[in-house]
Amino acid sequence: MTRILVIGGGIAGAAAALALHKAGYEPTVYEAHPDTGADIGAFLTLASNGMRALAQFDAAEPVARAGFPITGMNVVDESGTELAAMPLGEPDHPLTRYRCLRRAELATALRAEVRQRGIPVRHAARLRTVTETATDITAHFADGSSASGELLIGADGLHSAVRRWLDPSDAGPGYAGQRVFYGYSTAAPPPSAAPERITMVRGSAAAFGYLVSPAGETFWFARVPGAPVSAEETAEVTPGQWRERLLPLLRPDRTETAGIVAGTGEELMVTNALHLSPGLRWHTGRAVLIGDAAHAASPATGQGASMALEDAVVLAKALRDAPTRAAALARYELHRRPRTERNMAVSAQLTANRAPGPTAPRDSEQPAPRDSERPASRVDEELLHLLTWETPLPDA
Ligand SMILES: Cc1cc2nc3c(=O)[nH]c(=O)nc-3n(C[C@H](O)[C@H](O)[C@H](O)COP(=O)(O)OP(=O)(O)OC[C@H]3O[C@@H](n4cnc5c(N)ncnc54)[C@H](O)[C@@H]3O)c2cc1C
Repeated sequence: MTRILVIGGGIAGAAAALALHKAGYEPTVYEAHPDTGADIGAFLTLASNGMRALAQFDAAEPVARAGFPITGMNVVDESGTELAAMPLGEPDHPLTRYRCLRRAELATALRAEVRQRGIPVRHAARLRTVTETATDITAHFADGSSASGELLIGADGLHSAVRRWLDPSDAGPGYAGQRVFYGYSTAAPPPSAAPERITMVRGSAAAFGYLVSPAGETFWFARVPGAPVSAEETAEVTPGQWRERLLPLLRPDRTETAGIVAGTGEELMVTNALHLSPGLRWHTGRAVLIGDAAHAASPATGQGASMALEDAVVLAKALRDAPTRAAALARYELHRRPRTERNMAVSAQLTANRAPGPTAPRDSEQPAPRDSERPASRVDEELLHLLTWETPLPDA
């Protein structure tokens, strides 16, 4: 049995622990937060590819129960004119159709599975650094403790300490050029809202998305180009003040967006869209990065969590099927780098296209749905082959 240290108990870490456990390994999860972890309260959509990845390690059902389905999408422009309407992902499949849920709900569902399967989790274990020898790898934690194993998985997110150790030249995440507003409105749902449908609005000053939960709450986000939110703003600006800053950007449009934001109370948050540069080092002989630690993209494609879930499956299959650990890590990178870096590039492109300026195409000038609206969630033959648990992972 190979002892595997999983650093980070978020989406990628919990998923990797579940997939590795299913493949017969002995993972232990080390999570920095003392309890269940901090969460900015955002929601996310899990696309069909992410749901399919979850199904490979028998976790799609609890996640599906925690969220609600999205089976279709409408795209409208700033005048409220519908540009497109389409089904999303695998709408007819009860487990692999898109799901919407709060990030904390996803993390809770995955952690419950980890607990239920007897996988050890150590909380308040914040990794500081790593030492690697020919025979083992050791994680050193902020409280002075350490743990050794044969493999270490860096699933410690955007600001990964494992990545910093692996690649000291890594400059860390950069600002992608947009502020992302999130909110939940308990006011009456917008008149056009239909069950299980997400509406994407190509507004004049913001890319806006909204959908109504079965409980009648309107979940919404707005991506707005401009300067990053500063540390002072994060500390001092109240949800009500953020609402008043966002509303003037939405009111000129003839859409439902301003009404949704005006009906939102304290449940309104703002964060910066951050992303990594492609080409970072992903592994050594005994350490490997997954999830946001390896390939964080700005949120425009809505694929970060789904990509982390795919990573977990492919890494577990690679370790299970390759003749050596070195071959497994190389095979994992070979299969994951092109797809995840494509997602980073598409997301960066979509984010840049929202930047103001004469050369930037306005979204409303593009009649067809864009990639984020026709998401990279399509499970084609190649992806199906990579993800299906029973299918051996090809070596090239
Ligand atoms: C505004 C926003 C909207 C998004 N919307 C979507 C969406 O709609 N769909 C989608 O698929 N994705 C979305 N994403 C992306 C998604 O949230 C991330 O891709 C996903 O959370 C990555 O999972 P992860 O486990 O790699 O990282 P995280 O979820 O960040 O988990 C990392 C974990 O590691 C722990 N950790 C950190 N440092 C250490 C350390 N030194 N030692 C030990 N533990 C540590 C953290 O406490 C955390 O629990 C969005 C992201 C943002 C910011």
